[in-house]
Amino acid sequence: MSERIGFVGLGIMGRGMARNLLKNGFSVRVWNRTASRSEELAAEGAVIGSSPADVASHCDVIITCVSDTPDVQAVILGENGIIHGAQAGSLVIDMSTISPQATLEIAAQLNAVGAQMLDAPVSGGSEGAARGTLSIMVGGDAADVERAMPVFQAMGKTITHVGGQGAGQTVKLVNQILVVGNCLAMCEALLFAQAGGVDLEKCLAAVTGGAAGSWMLANRGPQIMRRDWRPGFTIDLQQKDVRLIMKEADALGVPVLATGLIFNLYRTLQEKGLGAEGNHALVKALENLSGVTVGSEAK
Ligand code: NAP
Repeated sequence: MSERIGFVGLGIMGRGMARNLLKNGFSVRVWNRTASRSEELAAEGAVIGSSPADVASHCDVIITCVSDTPDVQAVILGENGIIHGAQAGSLVIDMSTISPQATLEIAAQLNAVGAQMLDAPVSGGSEGAARGTLSIMVGGDAADVERAMPVFQAMGKTITHVGGQGAGQTVKLVNQILVVGNCLAMCEALLFAQAGGVDLEKCLAAVTGGAAGSWMLANRGPQIMRRDWRPGFTIDLQQKDVRLIMKEADALGVPVLATGLIFNLYRTLQEKGLGAEGNHALVKALENLSGVTVGSEAK
């Protein structure tokens, strides 16, 4: 019999991931803080649990995908949290992006009640979550990773066991240094193309397939040209990840020069009330500096 899966957090990512578990034949019990967001999945066969503890008490493997470190702490360790329903042998998999240090502390508390924990943050955006093509970077014990593999395979394509507990989160922050660097390069390039008076569509067609191509450019470049700021990944969550990088880099004593610049650019957008827009709206910070608007008619 396949493992019974619990899923806590049905946001942009969690919704697609839980749906792929259902499609792959797993029985799935879900919980979301805003209850109405569970209805869509219930119509597709998920059972709605009454709390994270309830989900844990009915499931073998419990996945969390919520926003930030305090949110993971709340749904796992808080009142009615997963730890209150977990049993010896329960496997908790946190797929949010949070602090590696806090991950170790949460894992220790779960281990103390006989439950296991993997940190398994993801990359691939809302598109990857919906299509089941996420990259999943996993930290934890090899036996737990092997046990979780069929679950991961329902949600992702590239599944890499990167080390012990916490290592998944460290690798995810490496991923995010690359993501925000790519994003800034894309925004600078589009601003330059706009100011240079070239046709943006032809410009993207020319550069996307070559050495300058990237996931960011292929997926978010066209969105910027259409001035479509709907989020695959919000500025607030992106800022949260950059904040985690800055904190870890400080502790590790390594310079993160470009990432620090991007941290400040995103802060300016948050101050303008744009935190719910997609992370590609970073271009607006450069537009504010230059007076050039990407996607406007050439002068
Ligand atoms: P989202 O759409 O904003 O959803 C956040 C989810 O967390 C919602 O279900 C929300 O519940 C829940 N939540 C937040 N705080 C909570 C709390 N204190 N207690 C209980 N539930 C809480 O975010 P997302 O884009 O799905 O991202 C989820 C995680 O995946 C984040 O750590 C993010 O960094 C990571 N991630 C996202 C992407 C992406 O492209 N979107 C890619 C890779 C990784 P409500 O519905 O009640 O608000």
